[in-house]
Amino acid sequence: MLLFAFWLESKKKCDFCEIVEGNSSTKIAYQSDRSIVFKDKTPQNKIHYQVAPKRHIQNLNGIDFNSYCDKATIMDIWETARSFIKKQHPEIKNIDKDLKMAFHVPDHTSVDHLHMHILNASNHSEKTKKELKARLFQDVYDVVNKFKF
Ligand SMILES: [Zn+2]
Ligand SMILES: [Zn+2]
Repeated sequence: MLLFAFWLESKKKCDFCEIVEGNSSTKIAYQSDRSIVFKDKTPQNKIHYQVAPKRHIQNLNGIDFNSYCDKATIMDIWETARSFIKKQHPEIKNIDKDLKMAFHVPDHTSVDHLHMHILNASNHSEKTKKELKARLFQDVYDVVNKFKF
């Protein structure tokens, strides 16, 4: 019985992979060849989206900072986020200043599929304030700077 339960668990697909495949009630708002953008289910600010790679990567620990392929994945997440915001939120004049784009620090992840949050840079909810204070998020700039090339 225990084995059967384990089998069922391993057959269960990742929620974000289901969004990629179009099998979820969460609809894709924008996408590139490699990444998808969708609205956060429990928005913490006026603007709150998530950007995830289409390929399943558990979290930042699954990124090899010596890999060109992994750098391309992170750069695509960032670029897809920027093109989406330009298109969907033309009122945002300075993406770098007005928005926060950050990944969960591993072990503090919400869902086990790598994703970047896009949020307004100010007027954070109490939940976000606490998370930022505890440094549970890492800015996309810092993630990109971890690559050795
Ligand atoms: Zn997944
Ligand atoms: Zn999250």
